[in-house]
Amino acid sequence: MNSKDLWTNGVRTYDKSLGKMFTLRASVMWTVNDFPAYAMVSGWSTKGYMACPVCKEDVTSGWHAGKVCYLGHRRWLSWDHEWREKDKQFDGNTERRLRPREWSGDEILDQLNRLDFAPFGKTVSRTRPSTHLNWTHKSMFFELPYWSKLKLRHNLDVMHVEKNVFDTLIGTILDIEGKTKDTIKARLDLERMGIRRGLWMNRDSDKARRDLAFFSMKPNDKKDFLKFISYVKFPDGYASNIARCVNVDGGKFTGLKSHDCHVFMQRLLPVGIRHLLPEDVVKPIMLLSRFFSQLTAKTLRKTDIHQLRHDIVQVLCKFEMIFPPAFFTSMIHVMVHLPEEALLAGPVNYRWMYPIERLLGELKKTVRNRAKPEGSIIEAWVQYESLNFCGMYLKDVDTAFNRPRRNNDGGVRNEKLSVFAQSARPFGDPARGESLSRNDMEVAHWFVLNNCDEIMAYLDEHEEMIKREHPSHLVANKHRELFPQWFLTEVNKLKSLNSPTYSEELYNLAFGPIRAELFSGCHVNGVKFLGTARDDKLCTQNSGVHVPGGGESTDIDFYGKLTTVVQLLYKDRYQVIMFKCRWFDTNPNRQGSVKIDHGLLSVNINRTWYDDDPYILANMATQIVYLDDPKAGNGWKVVQKMDQRNVYAIPELDPTDNEVDNVADQRFESSMENDAETLRDTNVIQEPFQLQGVSSLEIPIQSITIDLGNLPRYEVPVGPNDESDDDEDWETESDDSEDNESYYSSDD
Ligand SMILES: [Zn+2]
Repeated sequence: MNSKDLWTNGVRTYDKSLGKMFTLRASVMWTVNDFPAYAMVSGWSTKGYMACPVCKEDVTSGWHAGKVCYLGHRRWLSWDHEWREKDKQFDGNTERRLRPREWSGDEILDQLNRLDFAPFGKTVSRTRPSTHLNWTHKSMFFELPYWSKLKLRHNLDVMHVEKNVFDTLIGTILDIEGKTKDTIKARLDLERMGIRRGLWMNRDSDKARRDLAFFSMKPNDKKDFLKFISYVKFPDGYASNIARCVNVDGGKFTGLKSHDCHVFMQRLLPVGIRHLLPEDVVKPIMLLSRFFSQLTAKTLRKTDIHQLRHDIVQVLCKFEMIFPPAFFTSMIHVMVHLPEEALLAGPVNYRWMYPIERLLGELKKTVRNRAKPEGSIIEAWVQYESLNFCGMYLKDVDTAFNRPRRNNDGGVRNEKLSVFAQSARPFGDPARGESLSRNDMEVAHWFVLNNCDEIMAYLDEHEEMIKREHPSHLVANKHRELFPQWFLTEVNKLKSLNSPTYSEELYNLAFGPIRAELFSGCHVNGVKFLGTARDDKLCTQNSGVHVPGGGESTDIDFYGKLTTVVQLLYKDRYQVIMFKCRWFDTNPNRQGSVKIDHGLLSVNINRTWYDDDPYILANMATQIVYLDDPKAGNGWKVVQKMDQRNVYAIPELDPTDNEVDNVADQRFESSMENDAETLRDTNVIQEPFQLQGVSSLEIPIQSITIDLGNLPRYEVPVGPNDESDDDEDWETESDDSEDNESYYSSDD
């Protein structure tokens, strides 16, 4: 076994930086695989009554509606939690058991060593003696000397879990035939268990009828929901065109890929269902959506994961009170273990199947001879590697190593003044009829002066001077009116004195813009922005602009839409790129300017403010997406913040600073935070058991938020105006087939 050799003997390797040879050793950290493969690599079958590879034989399972289902999530609640006493709301029993214990690697190895396994082969009978529980074989990884010491050996794949949970959930709440878990069998099962009389079959003398459950949408509401989805637009490269997967008349979705489900779960579900389902159903679903969105964030904090551990138990218990037992497939159950794994192993995006599925998709595309697929793949791979190596020695040619990034913003500039040094690359003709008057240019220039850090001292000095000379109500206007001229005089003085603070750039800034050019779009900070006139014609949305508050004197976040990109040209070809935007009124002092519902912020796009002051510097903008707000009605849009690709929220690590764990997460800013508590009812769960020989379950994970530059990104560009046809990447996933349900569920 190679990996064993790599650990025990290592290989002699040359260290170029030191010019020396050293012994390189390598170990297997963990495996990343989907659920069926989990059974193969771990030796624990993921089917049947003991399907959960974490709870093992202690999982609570039962036969419901013709399938094995996994309930009993009250076991994770604290010992004295009130829900433990409620029998009728749950499965008819009170819950007295503790949460399933966790097995250390050494205990598992011990167990396996005491069992005999039949050798592999077709002739061997497949029946397992009951002593073997779900063990099918001793995993060969245990030959690695360190394997049993690892705290996490196999990852539950969050990509597949999320996709399967989403399918189950959406199928049930939309009551999609063939997808819903709320079947006649499930209703009969409830009758058999004698619980939730309201969901029993409606019986006349000789007929029985399944009425729509309270947790499913009525046909008209379902149509509204599907219509809402069919208008959704996301930024270029963020997601595929989900709107095209909606079949409004057929009342279902077609061709949703894993990544679509990921986006749907976290972005669309919370917005779309709020007003269509009862509050008791909406709350846990929104909490679940938030759970996945926090769990899959690029930056994970320990305190957040502790909270997620509470949240998921609560969600599952609530679901047990809402949905019939048939809803609880193994994929629903394993969610309870995801936060624990994140606590041990860190952010999910290094431990899930997206990059692997992508690579497999690439490899499968190279197959030309279906009789011998391996041959094609190997040949293509050798070509790929050789071209890559050649590329390292080629200059003056476009190669994978010097190709400009998507949304190339022109890179770092040499100017010294911050406003001139912005990297932004405007493009495209402006909308018809757009022009910029001399007055507009002055407004824009005033914004530039006010946002140039290097001249703050001049602004302050001038303002003080004005305050001494004019009554207070005139100060602001006079300051604005007189500063540009005064500033130019000051800079001229510096020049005549030969002052070291003088520079050509400062002079050019003080001199003011000579002319302006208009554009329809701009690449800045690696993001593409488009003016509304052009953006509205596309099925992507790149015009949403957000400027986080917290600047001088204001904490208000600004939300708007880009109308035009303005390039102010100064002397000597110096330039400042600005965004002219329509700002939506978010004045906190005005009633009804924004709505916050379940932690979602809505703005009214018919009410604007700052119409006289519409400019910002291009690099201040972050991209956001507006979704229709079906609950608030016409003219209201829900604001969704976007994570920027290849940008990580890195807390400044100071070992003495305990606050480092608790820096507010970029994804859940002000508006989201307010409502977090209302989604939760309780926070009490049991703490996990201590493992023998393992001092603590928690390892420090502060250092896991690191910048990994150009690692492959998992938000695959499959937008309609995408240059490559990456669409195929998702086609190859095994979970795409119609019968994926039986693939993952446990009716073995
Ligand atoms: Zn489990």
